[in-house]
Amino acid sequence: MPAPATSARALREKLRTHFGFRTFRPGQLEAVRSAMEGRDVLVVMPTGSGKSLCFQLPALELEGTTVVVSPLIALMKDQADALRAKGIEVAVINSALSAGERQQAEADILSGKAEFVYTTPEQLANPDFRALLKQLLIDIFVVDEAHCVSQWGHDFRPDFLALGRAIDDLGRPPVLALTATATPDVIDDILRILGMPDADVVHTGFYRPNLALSVVPAAGDGEKREAVLDLLGEDGDGTGIVYAATTKAVDELAEFLDAGGVAVAAYHGKLAAKKRAEAQDRFMAGEVSALVATNAFGLGIDKPDIRFVAHYHLPGSPEAFYQEFGRAGRDGDPARGVLLYDPADLKIQRFLGAGRYPDDTDLVNAYHALERLADGPEPPALADLVPISPLPKGRLKVCLDLLAARGVVKNGDGHYRLLKRGLDRDQVAGEGRAYKERHERDREKLTRLTDYAEGRACRWRALLDYFGDADELSGPRCGHCDRCAFLGVGEPADAARAAG
Ligand code: ADP
Ligand code: MG
Repeated sequence: MPAPATSARALREKLRTHFGFRTFRPGQLEAVRSAMEGRDVLVVMPTGSGKSLCFQLPALELEGTTVVVSPLIALMKDQADALRAKGIEVAVINSALSAGERQQAEADILSGKAEFVYTTPEQLANPDFRALLKQLLIDIFVVDEAHCVSQWGHDFRPDFLALGRAIDDLGRPPVLALTATATPDVIDDILRILGMPDADVVHTGFYRPNLALSVVPAAGDGEKREAVLDLLGEDGDGTGIVYAATTKAVDELAEFLDAGGVAVAAYHGKLAAKKRAEAQDRFMAGEVSALVATNAFGLGIDKPDIRFVAHYHLPGSPEAFYQEFGRAGRDGDPARGVLLYDPADLKIQRFLGAGRYPDDTDLVNAYHALERLADGPEPPALADLVPISPLPKGRLKVCLDLLAARGVVKNGDGHYRLLKRGLDRDQVAGEGRAYKERHERDREKLTRLTDYAEGRACRWRALLDYFGDADELSGPRCGHCDRCAFLGVGEPADAARAAG
Protein backbone atom coordinates (compact mmCIF):
# COMPACT_ATOMS: atom_id res chain seq x y z
CA MET A 1 0.00 0.00 0.00
CA PRO A 2 1.42 3.44 -0.86
CA ALA A 3 2.18 5.75 2.07
CA PRO A 4 -0.91 7.87 2.77
CA ALA A 5 -0.77 11.49 1.64
CA THR A 6 -0.18 13.77 4.59
CA SER A 7 -0.17 17.23 3.04
CA ALA A 8 -2.33 19.69 4.96
CA ARG A 9 -4.65 19.87 1.99
CA ALA A 10 -5.08 16.12 1.66
CA LEU A 11 -5.75 15.79 5.38
CA ARG A 12 -8.29 18.63 5.38
CA GLU A 13 -10.07 16.81 2.61
CA LYS A 14 -10.20 13.66 4.78
CA LEU A 15 -11.49 15.76 7.67
CA ARG A 16 -14.39 16.86 5.51
CA THR A 17 -15.24 13.45 4.15
CA HIS A 18 -15.05 11.54 7.43
CA PHE A 19 -16.30 14.11 9.91
CA GLY A 20 -17.90 16.93 7.96
CA PHE A 21 -15.66 19.55 9.61
CA ARG A 22 -14.09 22.27 7.48
CA THR A 23 -11.00 23.10 9.53
CA PHE A 24 -8.74 21.46 12.03
CA ARG A 25 -8.66 22.83 15.53
CA PRO A 26 -5.25 23.84 16.96
CA GLY A 27 -2.90 20.87 17.26
CA GLN A 28 -5.10 18.39 15.40
CA LEU A 29 -3.36 18.57 12.03
CA GLU A 30 0.06 18.10 13.61
CA ALA A 31 -1.13 15.11 15.69
CA VAL A 32 -2.97 13.50 12.77
CA ARG A 33 0.07 13.83 10.56
CA SER A 34 2.44 12.27 13.10
CA ALA A 35 0.07 9.37 13.59
CA MET A 36 -0.39 8.87 9.84
CA GLU A 37 3.37 8.67 9.51
CA GLY A 38 3.52 5.91 12.11
CA ARG A 39 5.22 7.85 14.88
CA ASP A 40 4.42 7.73 18.60
CA VAL A 41 2.45 10.81 19.64
CA LEU A 42 1.44 12.40 22.91
CA VAL A 43 -1.45 14.84 22.50
CA VAL A 44 -1.88 17.34 25.34
CA MET A 45 -4.94 19.49 24.79
CA PRO A 46 -7.61 20.94 27.05
CA THR A 47 -10.86 19.12 27.62
CA GLY A 48 -13.28 19.63 24.77
CA SER A 49 -10.66 20.64 22.22
CA GLY A 50 -11.17 17.55 20.06
CA LYS A 51 -8.54 15.02 21.06
CA SER A 52 -10.44 11.97 19.80
CA LEU A 53 -10.24 13.14 16.21
CA CYS A 54 -6.42 13.02 16.43
CA PHE A 55 -6.57 9.23 16.35
CA GLN A 56 -9.95 8.63 14.73
CA LEU A 57 -9.01 10.27 11.45
CA PRO A 58 -5.71 8.41 10.97
CA ALA A 59 -7.42 5.20 12.13
CA LEU A 60 -9.92 5.46 9.30
CA GLU A 61 -7.16 6.08 6.77
CA LEU A 62 -4.57 3.54 7.87
CA GLU A 63 -4.78 -0.13 7.14
CA GLY A 64 -5.34 -2.15 10.31
CA THR A 65 -7.34 -2.17 13.52
CA THR A 66 -7.10 0.60 16.11
CA VAL A 67 -7.00 -0.43 19.76
CA VAL A 68 -8.29 2.24 22.15
CA VAL A 69 -7.72 1.88 25.90
CA SER A 70 -10.06 3.91 28.00
CA PRO A 71 -10.42 4.12 31.79
CA LEU A 72 -14.20 4.13 31.96
CA ILE A 73 -16.79 1.84 30.44
CA ALA A 74 -19.20 4.78 30.04
CA LEU A 75 -16.56 6.71 28.12
CA MET A 76 -15.91 3.94 25.63
CA LYS A 77 -19.62 3.44 25.15
CA ASP A 78 -20.13 7.10 24.20
CA GLN A 79 -17.29 7.03 21.68
CA ALA A 80 -18.31 3.67 20.26
CA ASP A 81 -21.89 4.88 19.79
CA ALA A 82 -20.71 8.04 18.04
CA LEU A 83 -18.55 6.05 15.61
CA ARG A 84 -21.29 3.50 14.95
CA ALA A 85 -23.63 6.35 14.12
CA LYS A 86 -21.24 7.10 11.24
CA GLY A 87 -21.51 3.50 10.07
CA ILE A 88 -18.11 2.50 11.40
CA GLU A 89 -17.68 -0.98 12.93
CA VAL A 90 -16.59 -0.90 16.56
CA ALA A 91 -15.98 -3.77 18.98
CA VAL A 92 -16.07 -3.08 22.70
CA ILE A 93 -14.44 -5.52 25.10
CA ASN A 94 -14.86 -4.98 28.83
CA SER A 95 -15.92 -6.77 31.99
CA ALA A 96 -19.56 -5.67 31.58
CA LEU A 97 -20.20 -7.99 28.59
CA SER A 98 -22.16 -11.23 28.83
CA ALA A 99 -20.44 -14.37 27.56
CA GLY A 100 -22.46 -14.20 24.34
CA GLU A 101 -21.71 -10.53 23.74
CA ARG A 102 -18.06 -11.16 24.30
CA GLN A 103 -17.98 -14.03 21.82
CA GLN A 104 -19.65 -11.85 19.21
CA ALA A 105 -17.21 -8.98 19.83
CA GLU A 106 -14.22 -11.33 19.59
CA ALA A 107 -15.54 -12.78 16.35
CA ASP A 108 -15.89 -9.24 14.94
CA ILE A 109 -12.32 -8.50 15.92
CA LEU A 110 -10.89 -11.71 14.46
CA SER A 111 -12.75 -11.34 11.17
CA GLY A 112 -11.13 -7.92 10.76
CA LYS A 113 -14.57 -6.35 10.58
CA ALA A 114 -13.98 -4.05 13.54
CA GLU A 115 -12.14 -0.84 12.64
CA PHE A 116 -11.83 0.07 16.34
CA VAL A 117 -11.48 -2.09 19.44
CA TYR A 118 -12.33 -0.20 22.63
CA THR A 119 -11.12 -1.84 25.80
CA THR A 120 -9.73 -1.41 29.33
CA PRO A 121 -6.27 -1.89 30.84
CA GLU A 122 -7.64 -4.79 32.90
CA GLN A 123 -8.56 -6.65 29.70
CA LEU A 124 -5.11 -6.04 28.24
CA ALA A 125 -3.57 -7.64 31.32
CA ASN A 126 -5.16 -10.90 30.16
CA PRO A 127 -2.74 -12.93 27.97
CA ASP A 128 -5.62 -14.64 26.12
CA PHE A 129 -7.01 -11.30 25.01
CA ARG A 130 -3.56 -10.13 23.94
CA ALA A 131 -3.11 -13.37 21.98
CA LEU A 132 -6.26 -12.48 20.08
CA LEU A 133 -5.03 -8.95 19.36
CA LYS A 134 -1.68 -10.32 18.20
CA GLN A 135 -3.43 -11.86 15.24
CA LEU A 136 -4.30 -8.38 13.97
CA LEU A 137 -2.39 -5.63 12.27
CA ILE A 138 -2.69 -2.83 14.84
CA ASP A 139 -2.31 0.55 13.12
CA ILE A 140 -2.46 2.68 16.29
CA PHE A 141 -2.53 1.77 19.97
CA VAL A 142 -4.42 4.61 21.66
CA VAL A 143 -4.34 5.42 25.38
CA ASP A 144 -7.12 7.89 26.18
CA GLU A 145 -7.01 9.90 29.42
CA ALA A 146 -3.37 8.86 29.59
CA HIS A 147 -2.68 10.80 32.81
CA CYS A 148 -4.22 7.74 34.51
CA VAL A 149 -0.79 6.05 34.10
CA SER A 150 0.87 8.72 36.19
CA GLN A 151 1.06 8.53 39.92
CA TRP A 152 1.12 12.34 39.85
CA GLY A 153 -2.12 12.46 37.88
CA HIS A 154 -5.27 12.98 39.92
CA ASP A 155 -7.02 10.01 38.29
CA PHE A 156 -4.10 7.62 38.86
CA ARG A 157 -5.10 3.98 38.21
CA PRO A 158 -2.58 1.30 39.16
CA ASP A 159 -3.86 -1.04 36.44
CA PHE A 160 -2.66 1.48 33.81
CA LEU A 161 0.93 0.80 34.89
CA ALA A 162 1.04 -2.50 33.03
CA LEU A 163 0.13 -0.91 29.68
CA GLY A 164 3.78 -0.41 28.68
CA ARG A 165 4.39 -4.14 28.95
CA ALA A 166 1.16 -4.94 27.08
CA ILE A 167 2.31 -2.68 24.23
CA ASP A 168 5.67 -4.46 24.13
CA ASP A 169 3.91 -7.80 24.04
CA LEU A 170 1.81 -6.64 21.07
CA GLY A 171 5.01 -5.90 19.17
CA ARG A 172 5.07 -2.14 19.80
CA PRO A 173 2.55 -0.73 17.35
CA PRO A 174 2.65 3.09 17.10
CA VAL A 175 1.24 4.56 20.32
CA LEU A 176 -0.93 7.66 20.54
CA ALA A 177 -1.64 8.92 24.06
CA LEU A 178 -4.13 11.67 24.92
CA THR A 179 -4.52 13.77 28.03
CA ALA A 180 -5.69 17.16 29.28
CA THR A 181 -3.19 17.21 32.14
CA ALA A 182 0.00 19.00 31.21
CA THR A 183 2.23 19.25 34.25
CA PRO A 184 5.79 18.16 33.39
CA ASP A 185 5.68 15.33 35.97
CA VAL A 186 2.65 13.79 34.35
CA ILE A 187 4.03 14.13 30.82
CA ASP A 188 7.31 12.48 31.87
CA ASP A 189 5.42 9.62 33.49
CA ILE A 190 3.27 9.01 30.41
CA LEU A 191 6.27 8.92 28.05
CA ARG A 192 8.22 6.66 30.40
CA ILE A 193 5.47 4.24 31.42
CA LEU A 194 4.15 3.79 27.89
CA GLY A 195 7.74 3.40 26.64
CA MET A 196 7.65 6.21 24.07
CA PRO A 197 10.59 8.50 24.93
CA ASP A 198 10.87 9.83 21.37
CA ALA A 199 7.19 10.56 20.83
CA ASP A 200 6.11 13.74 19.06
CA VAL A 201 4.48 15.87 21.75
CA VAL A 202 1.62 18.04 20.51
CA HIS A 203 0.78 20.53 23.24
CA THR A 204 -1.71 23.29 22.48
CA GLY A 205 -1.62 25.21 25.70
CA PHE A 206 -4.12 25.76 28.39
CA TYR A 207 -5.61 29.19 28.22
CA ARG A 208 -9.34 29.19 27.49
CA PRO A 209 -10.28 32.78 26.72
CA ASN A 210 -14.04 32.15 26.89
CA LEU A 211 -13.89 30.96 30.50
CA ALA A 212 -14.28 33.69 33.12
CA LEU A 213 -12.81 32.62 36.43
CA SER A 214 -13.78 33.92 39.85
CA VAL A 215 -13.52 33.10 43.52
CA VAL A 216 -16.40 33.80 45.89
CA PRO A 217 -15.48 33.82 49.58
CA ALA A 218 -18.24 31.90 51.35
CA ALA A 219 -17.96 30.51 54.86
CA GLY A 220 -20.02 27.48 55.79
CA ASP A 221 -23.06 25.93 54.15
CA GLY A 222 -25.29 28.97 54.75
CA GLU A 223 -23.17 31.38 52.70
CA LYS A 224 -22.32 28.78 50.10
CA ARG A 225 -25.93 27.88 49.47
CA GLU A 226 -26.72 31.57 48.99
CA ALA A 227 -23.83 31.81 46.56
CA VAL A 228 -25.06 28.82 44.56
CA LEU A 229 -28.56 30.29 44.39
CA ASP A 230 -27.11 33.61 43.16
CA LEU A 231 -25.13 31.80 40.51
CA LEU A 232 -28.12 29.78 39.31
CA GLY A 233 -30.12 33.02 39.17
CA GLU A 234 -27.53 34.72 37.00
CA ASP A 235 -27.15 31.82 34.62
CA GLY A 236 -30.84 31.16 34.37
CA ASP A 237 -30.77 29.79 30.83
CA GLY A 238 -27.75 27.54 30.87
CA THR A 239 -27.03 24.37 32.67
CA GLY A 240 -23.99 23.78 34.87
CA ILE A 241 -22.22 21.53 37.33
CA VAL A 242 -21.72 22.13 41.04
CA TYR A 243 -18.90 19.98 42.36
CA ALA A 244 -18.82 19.09 46.06
CA ALA A 245 -16.16 17.02 47.79
CA THR A 246 -18.29 14.37 49.51
CA THR A 247 -21.37 12.32 48.69
CA LYS A 248 -23.08 13.68 51.81
CA ALA A 249 -22.53 17.27 50.73
CA VAL A 250 -23.88 16.44 47.26
CA ASP A 251 -27.06 14.92 48.69
CA GLU A 252 -27.62 17.81 51.10
CA LEU A 253 -27.06 20.54 48.54
CA ALA A 254 -29.25 18.81 45.97
CA GLU A 255 -32.04 18.45 48.55
CA PHE A 256 -31.73 22.09 49.55
CA LEU A 257 -31.93 23.30 45.95
CA ASP A 258 -34.74 20.92 45.14
CA ALA A 259 -36.73 22.15 48.16
CA GLY A 260 -36.19 25.69 46.86
CA GLY A 261 -37.80 24.77 43.56
CA VAL A 262 -34.60 24.54 41.52
CA ALA A 263 -34.44 21.66 39.03
CA VAL A 264 -31.30 19.70 39.96
CA ALA A 265 -29.98 16.17 39.77
CA ALA A 266 -27.43 14.54 42.06
CA TYR A 267 -24.56 12.30 40.95
CA HIS A 268 -22.02 10.42 43.04
CA GLY A 269 -20.42 7.00 43.38
CA LYS A 270 -22.69 5.79 46.16
CA LEU A 271 -25.85 6.08 44.08
CA ALA A 272 -27.13 3.00 42.26
CA ALA A 273 -25.93 2.78 38.66
CA LYS A 274 -29.49 3.35 37.44
CA LYS A 275 -29.85 6.58 39.44
CA ARG A 276 -26.52 7.82 38.18
CA ALA A 277 -27.44 7.11 34.58
CA GLU A 278 -30.76 8.90 35.10
CA ALA A 279 -29.04 11.98 36.56
CA GLN A 280 -26.53 12.03 33.72
CA ASP A 281 -29.25 11.69 31.07
CA ARG A 282 -31.29 14.56 32.55
CA PHE A 283 -28.20 16.72 32.67
CA MET A 284 -27.13 15.89 29.11
CA ALA A 285 -30.65 16.64 27.88
CA GLY A 286 -30.54 20.06 29.56
CA GLU A 287 -33.48 19.25 31.82
CA VAL A 288 -31.84 20.51 35.00
CA SER A 289 -30.39 23.89 35.98
CA ALA A 290 -27.49 22.13 37.61
CA LEU A 291 -26.01 18.74 38.24
CA VAL A 292 -24.67 18.49 41.78
CA ALA A 293 -21.87 15.95 41.74
CA THR A 294 -18.69 14.60 43.25
CA ASN A 295 -15.64 14.29 41.04
CA ALA A 296 -16.97 10.85 40.03
CA PHE A 297 -18.79 12.78 37.29
CA GLY A 298 -17.32 14.24 34.18
CA LEU A 299 -14.35 12.37 32.74
CA GLY A 300 -14.81 12.47 28.98
CA ILE A 301 -18.29 14.01 29.09
CA ASP A 302 -19.07 15.68 25.76
CA LYS A 303 -21.63 18.39 26.46
CA PRO A 304 -20.56 21.55 24.68
CA ASP A 305 -22.96 24.05 26.26
CA ILE A 306 -22.19 23.78 29.98
CA ARG A 307 -22.41 27.42 31.06
CA PHE A 308 -20.79 27.21 34.48
CA VAL A 309 -18.86 24.90 36.74
CA ALA A 310 -18.93 25.83 40.41
CA HIS A 311 -16.80 24.26 43.13
CA TYR A 312 -18.67 24.13 46.40
CA HIS A 313 -15.51 22.89 48.11
CA LEU A 314 -11.87 23.35 47.27
CA PRO A 315 -10.87 20.59 44.80
CA GLY A 316 -7.85 18.38 45.56
CA SER A 317 -5.31 19.96 43.20
CA PRO A 318 -4.93 22.62 40.50
CA GLU A 319 -4.97 19.80 37.92
CA ALA A 320 -8.31 18.48 39.14
CA PHE A 321 -9.64 22.04 39.35
CA TYR A 322 -8.62 22.83 35.76
CA GLN A 323 -9.95 19.54 34.42
CA GLU A 324 -13.28 20.12 36.15
CA PHE A 325 -13.98 23.78 35.34
CA GLY A 326 -12.61 23.06 31.86
CA ARG A 327 -15.80 21.12 31.14
CA ALA A 328 -17.60 24.47 30.86
CA GLY A 329 -17.90 26.35 27.59
CA ARG A 330 -16.60 23.77 25.15
CA ASP A 331 -18.70 25.44 22.48
CA GLY A 332 -16.47 28.50 22.80
CA ASP A 333 -19.28 30.72 24.11
CA PRO A 334 -18.73 32.58 27.38
CA ALA A 335 -18.87 30.36 30.45
CA ARG A 336 -17.84 30.62 34.08
CA GLY A 337 -15.64 28.78 36.56
CA VAL A 338 -16.51 29.75 40.11
CA LEU A 339 -14.73 28.60 43.24
CA LEU A 340 -16.66 29.02 46.49
CA TYR A 341 -13.83 29.44 48.92
CA ASP A 342 -13.81 28.71 52.62
CA PRO A 343 -10.31 28.13 54.03
CA ALA A 344 -11.89 25.67 56.48
CA ASP A 345 -12.50 23.32 53.51
CA LEU A 346 -8.81 22.50 53.43
CA LYS A 347 -9.56 20.13 56.28
CA ILE A 348 -11.91 18.11 54.08
CA GLN A 349 -9.32 17.66 51.34
CA ARG A 350 -6.61 16.85 53.86
CA PHE A 351 -8.89 14.23 55.38
CA LEU A 352 -9.72 12.74 51.97
CA GLY A 353 -6.02 12.83 51.07
CA ALA A 354 -5.00 11.01 54.23
CA GLY A 355 -7.41 8.19 53.42
CA ARG A 356 -6.15 7.84 49.86
CA TYR A 357 -2.77 6.35 50.65
CA PRO A 358 -1.91 3.34 52.77
CA ASP A 359 0.51 3.84 55.65
CA ASP A 360 3.35 1.51 56.71
CA THR A 361 1.14 -0.56 59.00
CA ASP A 362 -1.47 -1.07 56.26
CA LEU A 363 1.17 -2.33 53.85
CA VAL A 364 2.70 -4.67 56.40
CA ASN A 365 -0.75 -6.01 57.25
CA ALA A 366 -1.51 -6.69 53.60
CA TYR A 367 1.86 -8.35 53.12
CA HIS A 368 1.30 -10.63 56.12
CA ALA A 369 -2.10 -11.68 54.85
CA LEU A 370 -0.46 -12.64 51.54
CA GLU A 371 2.28 -14.58 53.29
CA ARG A 372 -0.27 -16.56 55.26
CA LEU A 373 -2.01 -17.76 52.11
CA ALA A 374 1.07 -17.98 49.90
CA ASP A 375 1.37 -21.76 50.13
CA GLY A 376 -2.20 -22.60 49.14
CA PRO A 377 -3.03 -24.51 45.93
CA GLU A 378 -3.40 -21.25 44.02
CA PRO A 379 -2.57 -17.60 44.75
CA PRO A 380 -5.32 -15.92 46.83
CA ALA A 381 -7.87 -13.52 45.43
CA LEU A 382 -8.95 -10.33 47.19
CA ALA A 383 -12.00 -12.15 48.58
CA ASP A 384 -9.72 -14.76 50.21
CA LEU A 385 -7.57 -12.09 51.82
CA VAL A 386 -10.31 -9.83 53.21
CA PRO A 387 -11.42 -12.22 56.01
CA ILE A 388 -7.90 -12.73 57.38
CA SER A 389 -6.81 -9.09 57.18
CA PRO A 390 -7.69 -6.28 59.60
CA LEU A 391 -7.93 -3.87 56.64
CA PRO A 392 -11.18 -2.85 54.98
CA LYS A 393 -11.53 -4.25 51.47
CA GLY A 394 -10.89 -1.02 49.58
CA ARG A 395 -7.74 -0.23 51.46
CA LEU A 396 -6.48 -3.80 51.19
CA LYS A 397 -6.87 -3.59 47.42
CA VAL A 398 -4.94 -0.30 47.31
CA CYS A 399 -2.11 -1.99 49.25
CA LEU A 400 -2.09 -5.05 46.98
CA ASP A 401 -2.06 -2.89 43.86
CA LEU A 402 0.78 -0.87 45.29
CA LEU A 403 2.75 -4.02 46.09
CA ALA A 404 2.01 -5.28 42.58
CA ALA A 405 3.23 -2.00 41.07
CA ARG A 406 6.45 -2.41 43.07
CA GLY A 407 6.95 -6.00 41.87
CA VAL A 408 6.46 -7.55 45.31
CA VAL A 409 3.36 -9.40 44.12
CA LYS A 410 2.05 -10.33 40.73
CA ASN A 411 -1.60 -9.74 39.98
CA GLY A 412 -2.94 -12.16 37.40
CA ASP A 413 -6.69 -12.34 36.80
CA GLY A 414 -7.45 -11.03 40.26
CA HIS A 415 -5.12 -13.49 42.05
CA TYR A 416 -2.15 -12.18 43.97
CA ARG A 417 1.01 -14.27 43.81
CA LEU A 418 3.72 -13.33 46.29
CA LEU A 419 7.01 -12.91 44.42
CA LYS A 420 9.23 -11.54 47.17
CA ARG A 421 8.97 -13.57 50.35
CA GLY A 422 10.50 -13.01 53.74
CA LEU A 423 10.65 -9.20 53.59
CA ASP A 424 10.85 -7.55 57.00
CA ARG A 425 8.70 -4.68 58.18
CA ASP A 426 11.09 -1.97 57.02
CA GLN A 427 11.47 -3.48 53.59
CA VAL A 428 7.72 -3.67 53.08
CA ALA A 429 7.26 -0.14 54.37
CA GLY A 430 10.04 0.99 52.05
CA GLU A 431 8.00 -0.12 49.05
CA GLY A 432 5.43 2.51 50.03
CA ARG A 433 7.92 5.37 49.98
CA ALA A 434 6.90 6.59 46.54
CA TYR A 435 3.36 6.88 47.79
CA LYS A 436 4.44 8.84 50.81
CA GLU A 437 6.22 11.25 48.54
CA ARG A 438 3.09 11.48 46.50
CA HIS A 439 1.06 12.25 49.59
CA GLU A 440 3.39 15.13 50.39
CA ARG A 441 3.15 16.39 46.82
CA ASP A 442 -0.63 16.31 47.09
CA ARG A 443 -0.50 18.50 50.16
CA GLU A 444 1.75 20.89 48.30
CA LYS A 445 -0.71 21.02 45.39
CA LEU A 446 -3.50 21.82 47.79
CA THR A 447 -1.46 24.74 49.05
CA ARG A 448 -1.03 26.00 45.51
CA LEU A 449 -4.78 25.97 45.14
CA THR A 450 -5.26 28.09 48.26
CA ASP A 451 -2.68 30.46 46.77
CA TYR A 452 -4.92 30.68 43.71
CA ALA A 453 -7.97 31.41 45.84
CA GLU A 454 -6.31 33.95 48.10
CA GLY A 455 -3.92 35.49 45.60
CA ARG A 456 -4.30 38.95 44.09
CA ALA A 457 -2.99 38.03 40.65
CA CYS A 458 -5.14 37.46 37.58
CA ARG A 459 -6.73 34.02 38.00
CA TRP A 460 -5.64 32.74 34.60
CA ARG A 461 -2.13 34.09 35.11
CA ALA A 462 -1.90 32.19 38.41
CA LEU A 463 -3.05 28.91 36.83
CA LEU A 464 -0.92 29.21 33.71
CA ASP A 465 2.13 29.97 35.85
CA TYR A 466 1.41 26.78 37.76
CA PHE A 467 1.11 24.74 34.56
CA GLY A 468 4.33 26.24 33.25
CA ASP A 469 2.42 27.85 30.41
CA ALA A 470 2.83 31.49 31.35
CA ASP A 471 3.55 32.68 27.82
CA GLU A 472 0.07 31.93 26.64
CA LEU A 473 -1.46 35.16 27.82
CA SER A 474 -0.49 38.05 25.64
CA GLY A 475 -0.10 40.29 28.70
CA PRO A 476 0.06 39.90 32.44
CA ARG A 477 -3.71 39.61 32.74
CA CYS A 478 -6.62 37.84 31.09
CA GLY A 479 -8.82 40.90 31.46
CA HIS A 480 -11.99 38.99 32.30
CA CYS A 481 -11.58 37.26 35.66
CA ASP A 482 -12.83 38.72 38.95
CA ARG A 483 -9.34 39.99 39.84
CA CYS A 484 -8.95 41.81 36.57
CA ALA A 485 -12.46 43.24 36.88
CA PHE A 486 -11.69 44.40 40.41
CA LEU A 487 -8.61 46.24 39.21
CA GLY A 488 -10.52 47.61 36.25
CA VAL A 489 -8.04 46.22 33.76
CA GLY A 490 -9.45 44.65 30.68
CA GLU A 491 -7.08 43.66 27.95
CA PRO A 492 -8.72 44.48 24.65
CA ALA A 493 -6.79 41.77 22.79
CA ASP A 494 -7.94 39.00 25.09
CA ALA A 495 -11.44 40.36 25.46
CA ALA A 496 -11.72 40.32 21.69
CA ARG A 497 -10.47 36.76 21.58
CA ALA A 498 -13.02 35.80 24.21
CA ALA A 499 -15.78 37.39 22.16
CA GLY A 500 -14.62 35.86 18.89
P1 ADP B 1 -11.69 15.96 24.15
O1 ADP B 1 -11.47 14.47 24.14
O2 ADP B 1 -10.47 16.74 23.79
O3 ADP B 1 -12.28 16.44 25.44
P2 ADP B 1 -13.57 15.39 22.04
O4 ADP B 1 -12.66 14.58 21.21
O5 ADP B 1 -14.60 14.65 22.83
O6 ADP B 1 -12.75 16.33 23.04
O7 ADP B 1 -14.26 16.48 21.09
C1 ADP B 1 -15.10 17.48 21.58
C2 ADP B 1 -16.06 17.93 20.50
O8 ADP B 1 -15.39 18.68 19.50
C3 ADP B 1 -16.75 16.78 19.79
O9 ADP B 1 -18.13 17.05 19.73
C4 ADP B 1 -16.13 16.80 18.40
O10 ADP B 1 -17.01 16.33 17.41
C5 ADP B 1 -15.80 18.27 18.20
N1 ADP B 1 -14.70 18.51 17.24
C6 ADP B 1 -13.50 17.90 17.23
N2 ADP B 1 -12.72 18.36 16.22
C7 ADP B 1 -13.44 19.30 15.57
C8 ADP B 1 -13.18 20.15 14.42
N3 ADP B 1 -12.02 20.13 13.77
N4 ADP B 1 -14.18 20.99 14.04
C9 ADP B 1 -15.35 21.04 14.71
N5 ADP B 1 -15.65 20.26 15.78
C10 ADP B 1 -14.72 19.40 16.22
MG1 MG C 1 -11.69 12.74 25.25
